[in-house]
Amino acid sequence: MGTLKEIISCTSDYDPDALPVAKANEVIRGFVKPVAGIEKLAVRAALGRVLAKDIVSPINVPSHDNSAMDGYAVRSDDLIMGEVALVEIGTAYAGKTFAGEVRRGECVRVMTGAVMPAGTDTVVIQEAVIAEGRRIAIPPGQEAGQNRRLAGEDLRKGKPALHAGRMLRPADIGLIASLGVCEVSVRRRLKVAFFSTGDELVSVGKKLKAGEVYDSNRYTLWGMLQRLGCEVIDLGVVRDDPRKLEAAFHRAAAGADAVVTSGGVSVGEADFTKQMLAKLGEVVFWKIAMRPGRPMAFGRVRARGRSAYLFGLPGNPVAVMVTFYHFVRGALLTMMGRSDTDLPLLRVKSQAAMRKKPGRTEYQRGVLELKNGEWSVRLTGAQGSGILRSMSEANCFVVLGHEQGNVDAGDYVEVMVMDGLV
Ligand code: AMP
Ligand code: MG
Repeated sequence: MGTLKEIISCTSDYDPDALPVAKANEVIRGFVKPVAGIEKLAVRAALGRVLAKDIVSPINVPSHDNSAMDGYAVRSDDLIMGEVALVEIGTAYAGKTFAGEVRRGECVRVMTGAVMPAGTDTVVIQEAVIAEGRRIAIPPGQEAGQNRRLAGEDLRKGKPALHAGRMLRPADIGLIASLGVCEVSVRRRLKVAFFSTGDELVSVGKKLKAGEVYDSNRYTLWGMLQRLGCEVIDLGVVRDDPRKLEAAFHRAAAGADAVVTSGGVSVGEADFTKQMLAKLGEVVFWKIAMRPGRPMAFGRVRARGRSAYLFGLPGNPVAVMVTFYHFVRGALLTMMGRSDTDLPLLRVKSQAAMRKKPGRTEYQRGVLELKNGEWSVRLTGAQGSGILRSMSEANCFVVLGHEQGNVDAGDYVEVMVMDGLV
């Protein structure tokens, strides 16, 4: 496995003081590895978990050719040009097959889901026929094989029905059940420790003195980690004191797969954090060409023969969330064994002009809304990196790429819908 240094030396145009978002992600994704542990769970308990092995279908789904409609099962070789009259010789229901063989000139009444009676290959819907007693008149224009579902058309025996690396969604657990499978192998849950740093931070429930702020990052971080399905370890607020920080990183490295911190990486504070972290593992400090969220630390810390990946995020409440979603989320999903980590970017019209400097990526907080019959995006007012309300009101990020310049009203911009994130 490559060290962080080796990965960085293979990254072209690496500049830690003006690192484009894509380069930072290239280094992060090159360094993090999926956790090895696997556990077996009942199907429902596996909802939201990541499949560790392919699920190979033990059966064909559907297991037999069956009718897709209520109607009459017929032999296509009876369907000559023009109308034909057949004799109804019985009925087949879903779960109750017709036992006999259908010969030429005969048909069987079938319900949706009924196994196709032997000899038949085509279903004529009941609305199309004229029935007089057991005499069933079939109009011309039927096609051989119509309204019939083929065995294995949904899932084929012996073929993978779901691939390893997939996070199981409701449709997936239904699909697994449709195979008759009752247990699945999933990756173990990721353990992620987190803490806030800052001498100015006060926990909720206490009174604020001048210069103090409530610690909100530990709430947003907790929420984002929960939604990703991590097992979280809350290490509280750690003061800007090298000894206390070191102790917190020790605990995290010994007990978690990753540690996410907020604060302490900005220019004024990075120096003592750097010195302290240099003792604990390999950590790089970046200034990323992005807004919000310029400073960030990344690497690995060790303690007692164990290690945890480290994501040192900036302290500003919006910067924490933006850097989490655009760097940490993908890395943690990779560690969870997920094969799909990218979220779709949609192109929609911007309702208003936006100022943007080329040379950095911006993540503006936006509201995607239906206006005059068309979906378009507007920004959520003040976009300062300390204004958490801009995140709370937003339902999407407006992602203005590295090279992008100013945007005019009516221009198309890329948005990332937050429903895929939270
Ligand atoms: P820092 O990155 O530590 O220099 O912090 C940048 C800004 O974010 C400062 O205004 C801090 O007061 C604020 N901040 C840092 N940590 C938190 C936190 N946990 N909750 C709310 N605000 C914070
Ligand atoms: Mg601070």
